[in-house]
Amino acid sequence: MLSIVVTAITALVIAAAGSESPGSAVVETSSMVKATLQPLPTPRARAVVSAATKPSRTLLVPENGPGLFVKAKGSTQTVGRGNLVTYRVEVEETIPIGTAAFAAAVDRTLAHPRGWTARGRYAFRREPSAALRIVLATPGTTDELCAPLQTGGEVSCRNGNDVVINAKRWTLGARSYDDDLASYRLYVINHEVGHSLGLPHAACPLAGAKAPVMLQQTLGLQGCLTNPWPY
Ligand SMILES: [Zn+2]
Repeated sequence: MLSIVVTAITALVIAAAGSESPGSAVVETSSMVKATLQPLPTPRARAVVSAATKPSRTLLVPENGPGLFVKAKGSTQTVGRGNLVTYRVEVEETIPIGTAAFAAAVDRTLAHPRGWTARGRYAFRREPSAALRIVLATPGTTDELCAPLQTGGEVSCRNGNDVVINAKRWTLGARSYDDDLASYRLYVINHEVGHSLGLPHAACPLAGAKAPVMLQQTLGLQGCLTNPWPY
């Protein structure tokens, strides 16, 4: 089922929320969160993070790119004991973030003991020929890879075998996470990979509760607290 929702971000973003079965496409807006949308950070509101332990928000990514990607080299060891999910990692050319660095962030997230492997249901391994592709893309290319879903240059999506992380969100984070860009990055990987595992969106169960990772936390928290972890 496809529903069309108009959301106010900086400009109007028209979003289509796809069905949630494996193989379908998922975009990070839905009628469910319409009432709780918060403005996403703008470059004007960008915080300068100087601590060495925090990712920098000062990096500028181009709005559009060539649609060509650099694939991360090599493979990782299998992590987890459950059903094996293999993935490859790519970064669009012209994005000033190294493919190895982005791949390492993805690898760390998926291998983290609090991640999707935690309950023994899933295992992960990065290998260059994997069907599941986790890419970091410019906003313009994100829109193209997510089409026919409309990401409006702002949000990420999962579309078929592609998990498309919008480099704008990767570098700026989301207002819901304030200055905790590191946690936002964990969240966005876990959330979009969760769609690849066949999981639909979830609502905040109770004000003040920990947000489900499948809540669209980029857009708002519905009264929940930020949480980047699946369990
Ligand atoms: Zn989603």
